[in-house]
Amino acid sequence: MLKNDPLEQWDRDNFFHASTHLAMHARGETPTRVISGAKGVHIQDRDGNQFLDAFAGLYCVNVGYGHPEIADAIAAQAKELAYYHSYVGHGTEASITLSKMIMDRAPDHMSKVYFGLSGSDANETNIKLIWYYNNILGRPEKKKIISRWRGYHGSGLMTGSLTGLELFHKKFDLPLAQVIHTEAPYYFRRTDQSMTEEQFSAHCAVELEAQIEREGADTIAAFIGEPVLGTGGIVPPPAGYWAAIQAVLDKHDILLVADEVVTGFGRLGTMFGSEYYGMKPDLITIAKGLTSAYAPLSGSIVSDKMWKVLEQGADENGPIGHGWTYSAHPICAAAGVANLKLIDDLNLVANAGRMGTYLNAAMRDALGDHVNMGEIRGDGLLCGVELVKNQDTKQAFEAADKICPTIVGAMAEQGVIARAMPQGDIIGFAPPFCISEAEIDKVVDVTKKAITQVLG
Ligand code: PLP
Repeated sequence: MLKNDPLEQWDRDNFFHASTHLAMHARGETPTRVISGAKGVHIQDRDGNQFLDAFAGLYCVNVGYGHPEIADAIAAQAKELAYYHSYVGHGTEASITLSKMIMDRAPDHMSKVYFGLSGSDANETNIKLIWYYNNILGRPEKKKIISRWRGYHGSGLMTGSLTGLELFHKKFDLPLAQVIHTEAPYYFRRTDQSMTEEQFSAHCAVELEAQIEREGADTIAAFIGEPVLGTGGIVPPPAGYWAAIQAVLDKHDILLVADEVVTGFGRLGTMFGSEYYGMKPDLITIAKGLTSAYAPLSGSIVSDKMWKVLEQGADENGPIGHGWTYSAHPICAAAGVANLKLIDDLNLVANAGRMGTYLNAAMRDALGDHVNMGEIRGDGLLCGVELVKNQDTKQAFEAADKICPTIVGAMAEQGVIARAMPQGDIIGFAPPFCISEAEIDKVVDVTKKAITQVLG
């Protein structure tokens, strides 16, 4: 398309963008970046500018951009059979094959996968399944869900409630009453700075148990958490955290949902984050990396324990009253099959682990002694850089200073995309798994230059 076309004006006049400052965008105060192509770790806008995408879109294009194998699989499926539904026992070769591939990769105690289209709808499914499960078991009071402050589980009514970030609640009348938030496993900002990681993990578990006892364990159905807090600031759990939490949940017969939308299919260098941290979830949420975002697809992986109850309830209750028109959409499922195959063929899970170690070490080497460095943290191919105004007090910058958006803007001008995380002075990195050491060096170099440019 010609550059003097009206696309930018159409954008401001017609397009309601996600997670965007509506007024600034309408007034033309925020950039309209029209992305026109991409290959490997690079994206390109229609003005011909190239960017190294160190956040893989929204940590989702895990295999990297422009793989013809996935595009061809999508095209072939669209030509052969663009759609059929999954109601009343229907399936397609693609959706059945993909379910087998997912279950082959999932932890051994998992049983079946239900397909959706987004991480949000998969978590909505999870909560409905949890309520259904407890109703079948004759425990109608056991319904509340515990989530963490700083957790991110989506933007729906229930999932926006589970999300523990202020922006996603404010003025939306959320969270819903069935949701309770507990302490974030955010060691850097623990209240008692004298605690070791292990002590802080134990403290989080004690707080959780106190909350459960206050509410009554017979009213709490489940706990949901990302193995690593993602959108809440790229925060890996402190040592011993998941074991301590799991023990409390097991004691009170509370289900665990591992939201692996970011960590599923290799980002930590293991197939699932549950494996990395030794979690034993009853439900696993998957999305992003399932198709590397070549097509929208998500899933709820259900454990043997829950499946048995759901199956047992069917004779009494009839078919499960839960379905999306596009559940197991064959075009998306074909993208998933090709994507998981590519991850295996290119050995990308192992590469993500190796490159993650390299990225975190390189970031520490380059920036560890900057006067405004709070913490550089990450497991696998996730890295969070938290800046502080004052290192001794860990004082944050004023929100109005927009420190991280400014740094990330300066990085984009130098050809690297990172993400200013929505809460706190945190820059997030989650590149595609195919990134090389040389490309990581560029990311780190540009990050250092931009931080120095903005903060000195
Ligand atoms: N869960 C986690 C951990 C996520 O990071 C996200 C999105 O970033 C979601 C759920 C929601 O997924 P979606 O945006 O596809 O609805």
